[in-house]
Amino acid sequence: MDRRNALVAIQKGEKLDQETLLRLHDEGLIELVDVTHFQSPGREYIAGLLTAKGLRLVEIGSEATTAAMGKPIGAGEAMPAGRVVKRWDVFISYAHEDKEEFVHGLAEALKNRGYEVWYDSFSLKLGDSLRESIDRGLIESRFGVVVLSQNFFAKHWTNRELNGLAAIEVAGEKVILPLWHGVTHADVVEYSPILADRKAINTMEGIDRVVAAIEQVVNPPLAEDLHEKLDAAEERLQEYRCSYCGAPLSERASVQLSENDSGTAEAFECGYSHVDGSIQRRCPSDPKFPRLQDYEFTYREVTGDAFWKWECFATGKTEEARALMLMRAPGSTQEEARQRVIDSYNGYAKPWRRR
Ligand SMILES: [Zn+2]
Repeated sequence: MDRRNALVAIQKGEKLDQETLLRLHDEGLIELVDVTHFQSPGREYIAGLLTAKGLRLVEIGSEATTAAMGKPIGAGEAMPAGRVVKRWDVFISYAHEDKEEFVHGLAEALKNRGYEVWYDSFSLKLGDSLRESIDRGLIESRFGVVVLSQNFFAKHWTNRELNGLAAIEVAGEKVILPLWHGVTHADVVEYSPILADRKAINTMEGIDRVVAAIEQVVNPPLAEDLHEKLDAAEERLQEYRCSYCGAPLSERASVQLSENDSGTAEAFECGYSHVDGSIQRRCPSDPKFPRLQDYEFTYREVTGDAFWKWECFATGKTEEARALMLMRAPGSTQEEARQRVIDSYNGYAKPWRRR
């Protein structure tokens, strides 16, 4: 259906498939979708899909809405109060006995975190249909929290209704979060084994933990944001680690380079050190770290009454090797003296290991 025909169809009050509606919305032609005649269970699925795309939902089915759907509604053209369905982040389904003691406080805590919370209409009484109430909530909210308590179970829900809670999904996402309020796993199992298997949050953990858990599901972008912050912190931490091997900074000092120029000297646990970028000693994990074969060994016989007969000298054959000076070492034989020099080289060349 082309755009023109689609708009004409809408003007006539005909029902269009969701793909067409989404396309029209993408083109900026409609902002509202009338969901009055959408049937459950497809209804909550479509509602979730459409709201995820930024479409507003209305449930009036009046001529006014149908007409309005045919053209973009500017910010100034407010719909009559009470007629436009508001979008909520979360609705709370609960036994009305739990309102004062818990639900009100939870709602306030969520509101304080900036969420739109809808709960007055979901105070359940004996004889209410749980599933109907949940369906109603989900049309206009992204998620539902169900407070499972002794009062809640006392409403005599059918097993089917309770089990159904565990399985409600919108667009493949679980959208019902059970909260356990003063009930144990055994209690929940008694009413619905399936529901008991669902990951739930216990209100015993305190309101902050409950809000955080709800937030994780309702607002994953916030959690993502947290990951980003962690990554950034990790990055900043890298500044305090050797860039070759990750060894931590052991010393950092400001040094006077000249009369009016100062720089930073840093030393890391692996041995890497530099003064304002000029390398004093390389990290053992740096590919440019001198190899043993970059040194030439020479010997000198010690004359006189000395305890050691020989001294071994290591002379760098490359610039890098010359930069890592190895101390001369004594020995009763040339080999022994040379081994002492090699030992000191190995001490410098030993890579840092995370402990
Ligand atoms: Zn290093």
